[in-house]
Amino acid sequence: MGPSVGSLCSVCGERLFSTHVLSIPEAEAKCGLCRRIEPLFARAVAYGSFDGGLRELIHLLKYSGVRPAAGVLGRMLAEAIAQLEPGFCNDEVLVIPVPMYRDKLRQREFNHAELLARAAVKHNREGHRMRLEAGLLERKRDTSSQAGLTSHQRRENVRGAFGVALPEAIRDREILVVDDVFTTGATVSECARVLRRGGAARVWVATVARTMKIAQRQVKIGLPAESFAKAPGNGVPLSRAATG
Ligand SMILES: [Zn+2]
Repeated sequence: MGPSVGSLCSVCGERLFSTHVLSIPEAEAKCGLCRRIEPLFARAVAYGSFDGGLRELIHLLKYSGVRPAAGVLGRMLAEAIAQLEPGFCNDEVLVIPVPMYRDKLRQREFNHAELLARAAVKHNREGHRMRLEAGLLERKRDTSSQAGLTSHQRRENVRGAFGVALPEAIRDREILVVDDVFTTGATVSECARVLRRGGAARVWVATVARTMKIAQRQVKIGLPAESFAKAPGNGVPLSRAATG
């Protein structure tokens, strides 16, 4: 690996080719997409790459209903959020998990993004003031089957899917949108668009994992399931992997 292969887009966190970052300070480096289209969120961060143990752990929570996994993943999310903190205003930041459609929620019995957000806020007690506000954003229709869609189709699929439940609660506020995985960013971008149109001052994004167009090292997590209560210990967060 060359020395700058690990550099990340300063806005969306996508991995950059070394040619993108030549003579640009790392804090300002942007990927091609973020240079072409100004993102609706101020910055998106993720703890690790969506593969290996991290992917398994997210699937355990999401599809097998192993709720204790949210504690471990929430701690990772809190670490990702810490990267955003220097940019936060002095005011309390509202943490809004990407909402689930009500039929889907009834089926699964919990919103995994909300469990992750709650765990992260709990782990972040020492950090910036944050308040979980799960009810401020609502999903008006089910858009969950995004697999197999192109980035453009994903954006079309989620357009108009979210609504602000209580506009006066978000007006001029800084908001942190939380989800499990950042894939193309279509879902969180649509949330950011609706929140900003509703009057939010700024929208940040934090996810546990992110899919990368450019392959990178995996985050290794000590499974099996009995180890959930313990810290994974050997995870390689993106920020740290990037320097190696
Ligand atoms: Zn970018």
